Formats: sequence, structure tokens, C-alpha cells
Amino acid sequence: MWRCGTLAATLLILAAPGARAGDADAAAPAPKYAATCTQAATFRTIVDVGHGTQAPGALSARGVDEYVFNLRLAREIDKELRAAGFDKTVLMITPDKPTRGLFKRVARATALKADLFFAVHHDSVPDKMVENWQFDGKAEHYNDRFPGHSLFISNSNGDRVGSLAFARLLGLALKTRGLKYTPHYTEKFMGNRRRELVDPEAGVYRYDQLIVLKETRMPAALMEAGSIINRNEELLLATPEHEALMASAVVEAVDEFCAERNKSTPAPVVAKLGNAKPADAKPGDTKPAVAKKPDEKKKPDEKKLAAAKKPDKKSDEAKRKTGWFHLGIFQ
Ligand SMILES: [Zn+2]
Repeated sequence: MWRCGTLAATLLILAAPGARAGDADAAAPAPKYAATCTQAATFRTIVDVGHGTQAPGALSARGVDEYVFNLRLAREIDKELRAAGFDKTVLMITPDKPTRGLFKRVARATALKADLFFAVHHDSVPDKMVENWQFDGKAEHYNDRFPGHSLFISNSNGDRVGSLAFARLLGLALKTRGLKYTPHYTEKFMGNRRRELVDPEAGVYRYDQLIVLKETRMPAALMEAGSIINRNEELLLATPEHEALMASAVVEAVDEFCAERNKSTPAPVVAKLGNAKPADAKPGDTKPAVAKKPDEKKKPDEKKLAAAKKPDKKSDEAKRKTGWFHLGIFQ
């Protein structure tokens, strides 16, 4: 039902009671999701648009840059977060090539005192796994085998418990909407792209070396929203309905994460401040525990994090042929 791609269905959804008509051309925008987190107005999420104009990432099955997909979805997420009440959300666009561009993202997130860093990407496959086809009279590449999204965190992040907690919330929110993550990153054929699945229920993988995940001090997660080298999924991912569906999952997860952060003990925050320069501290960072209704159902899975301590020895080359280097450290 959610994947229905007709214009009529879109209009019906937008017209439904309580629906959010968040599109720019909608007559009367009305958020269908209002933040429940009491700190929503001050909670800052960086929505990082993966890649940039100088290095646009992977190529889709029809020859479209990954950056185009990332920008469109990230804009939708940013818009919906704001509509829900997360006024401090920042859409981060970074044209620069890696590695400079990656460290710029981290530096900006730090300077902005972000509470959460969330990178938006779209997936592909290694060059050796693509097949040839013709689209619109041009030679293109595709692989139809691995549809689905995936989430990544780094154990080297300054707040890995928070990173996993957010990624888990997002994975479950996507699952609730009928979306399935791709399990293929655990397969041997992925070679040095193989990843440890730290949360099989929510589809969260561990990728320690990703610069934007490991260098950030605040909780950070990266989402591959789906596979644009997959010919069917590329079309689905380009629909406003699907973008809205994914964005709604992100908003829900951010809201739940924000609420959990504000009811939990300040220990992770204290640890973060301990690593930061004094100038980075602000009064709002201390976030004392606030008396709120307990919500025990979605706690960070610390056992899995503790069990996932062995170092990931791979280092990834930045070369690409068809454009697939977006899951290297040069993210
Ligand atoms: Zn990418």
C-alpha cells in the first residue's frame, strides 16, 4: 500500500485527515507527525547529503549520479524534521571531494554542536558484480540482486552506544513501514566490503572506518536508502511516495532518540564533554535527566556492541569504475 506509485494515491494520502502536506506546492502544509520529544526545538540533527557535486558517488542503473538521489531524499528528511518541530535541523551539503570534504562535514557537525549526525546515501555494488545493458541508447550497468536499505555505525564513534541506539530505532521504524534491509553485507562474496551485522532485527551493520562515523563525537549513523544499481529499486527510490515514507521513518526515529536522550542519565553526554574542548560546551549540553514516562522497549544493545570489538582490518581504496566507491572510507 505504501509503495503505491500513482498520483491519485499520493493525493489521497496528502488529503487524509492529519496528513502532512509538506510539499512546496501544497496549499496548506500541516504536519502529520508532531515531535513528542520535549527538547525537539533545540535538538540538532545534521542531515548530511552523501557525496557532492565534485564527487557525485555511485551511478544508478540508468546513469544518474547517487548525489542526485541523496540530495532529494535528504531534503525531504530535512523538511519533515522541521515540520515536526525539529527547528535546529541542518541540511549539510558539501561539494568537496573526499577526503577533504569528509573532514569538513565532521568539523561542521562539531562546530554546530550537533546532537546527531545522519548521512544519507544510496547503494550500489562492487564493479565486478555489475552487468551490462542499454538504457536510452546508452551503455549502462546494473545488478538486480540486492534491493533494500542498510544502516551503518562505527564502534570508533565518540558515542557508539548512542549511534547504535539511533540506528536501531531507525531500522525498526523502516521495518514497521514494510521496508526490508539487505542482508548481503554479511556474505563472503562481499570480500573486503563484508560487514558485521550488529543488529539483525533492525538491519544495522558495523563499519568502523567510515570517516563521518568514526571522527564525529556525537551519535552518527549512515543510511543506504536502497540500491540504485537495481533497476526496479532505482525507479521506486525516485518516487516522492517512497521518499516520504523513508523520511517519516527518520523523523519518528529522531523523535524517539531525542526523547530517550532526555530521559536517560547524562553519562554519555558527560563522556562527550570530557573529550571536547571547553569552548565546545554549552549550557544545553548537560541535559539533566528529566522526569518523563519511561520507555524501556528500545534500549541500546550494549551487549552486541561489546561483543563486536574486534578491529575491522580492511582499508578501502578510493578507485572506482562504475562509480562504486561510496562505501569506502571516502564516504
Ligand atoms: Zn554513497
